[in-house]
Amino acid sequence: MSLYIGVDLGGTNLRAAIADTDTGQIFHQRKCPTLAAGGQAAVIGRIIQLIEELIQECGLSTCQIKGVGIGVPGTPDIEAGVIQFLPNMPGKWLNVPLQSILEEKVQLPVALINDVRAITLGERRISTDRSCETLVCLAIGTGIGGGVVVNGQFHLGIGGTAGEFGHHVVEVNGLPCGCGGKGCLELYASGPAMAAMGVKEVMHGHTTRIGELVDHDLNRIDAEIIVQAALEGDLIAKDILQRVGTYLGIAVGNILGILSPQKVIFAGGVSRAGDLLLQPIVQTVNERVHVIPVEKVEFVLAELGMQGGLIGAALWAKRRCEGQ
Ligand SMILES: [Zn+2]
Repeated sequence: MSLYIGVDLGGTNLRAAIADTDTGQIFHQRKCPTLAAGGQAAVIGRIIQLIEELIQECGLSTCQIKGVGIGVPGTPDIEAGVIQFLPNMPGKWLNVPLQSILEEKVQLPVALINDVRAITLGERRISTDRSCETLVCLAIGTGIGGGVVVNGQFHLGIGGTAGEFGHHVVEVNGLPCGCGGKGCLELYASGPAMAAMGVKEVMHGHTTRIGELVDHDLNRIDAEIIVQAALEGDLIAKDILQRVGTYLGIAVGNILGILSPQKVIFAGGVSRAGDLLLQPIVQTVNERVHVIPVEKVEFVLAELGMQGGLIGAALWAKRRCEGQ
C-alpha cells in the first residue's frame, strides 16, 4: 500500500483525500469551503488544517503518508513549487511558494500541479482501456483547463503548461481574456460564459425555465441552472449548450489536428449536461474535421467526478517523490 494525500484547491471548496496510489482507491476524504475572498494566508491555513484533520481522522500518523499532491486552478511552476498566478481565484496569488510553506507545516513532501492535469492523471489511472495511448482531457468549469497523454506518457510541456485548451483562440478578433490574449475559448464556453448567455436571455424577456428556476434573480443564474433548465427540456437553455458545444467542438477539432488522440474526455461541472453538450461538440467536429479519422475517436464524459482530481493529485505526489 502506498498512501498519498491528494488536495484540490477549488474556487468554492477545498477537498482532500487519502488515496492508495497502488490501487487508485480513496480511503477517506473531507472538504471545507475555500472562502477565497478571505485572502491567500487564510486559504493556506485551511489547506494545512484540512490535511492535519484528514490524517487524524484516519488514525494515521504523518510517517505513514508518503507525500501530498495539490491541484491548483492555474499555472504552478512544478519544479520550483511556486504558484505563479491563479486567474480565477480572488485575492493575490502571485508567485506564492506554496510547496515550501506546506512542507514546513505538514512535514511531508509536497508537489504542485495544475488541477486539470491532475484530473487527467486520475482518469488515466482508472481507465480499463490500456490500449488508449494518446488522450486529452478538457475540464469545463469556472475556466477551461486540459491535460494531455501522448504515447502512454503524461505530457507536461515546458514547466507543466501543456494542455491550456481554455486559451485556444476561437474568435480571431474576440473578447479580451484575463490571460492577456483575446478570443480565448473560455470566454465563450466556460461556466461564467454560459451564465452570461442565460442572463442575457432572461433580461430580453424571453420565456425560459432559466428565469423561473432562480425566481428571476439574475444574480443566481449560473452554469448549473442552465444545465438544469436544459435537462428539463428548456429550448433556450438547450440552445446555449448548443452554442457552447460548437465553440468546444472548434477547439477539440484543432486538438485532433495536432495530436490525433484516441480519446477525448470531458470533465468539470458543465460536463454534467452529458449528451446535451457532447452532441453539439461531436457534430461540430464531424462538420469541420476531415483529415483525421474522427469516427475512431472516442468522446466520453469523465468517470471519476470530483474524485478524479484528488486521485490524480495523489498520483502526482507519488511521481515526484519517486523522482519521475
Ligand atoms: Zn486566454
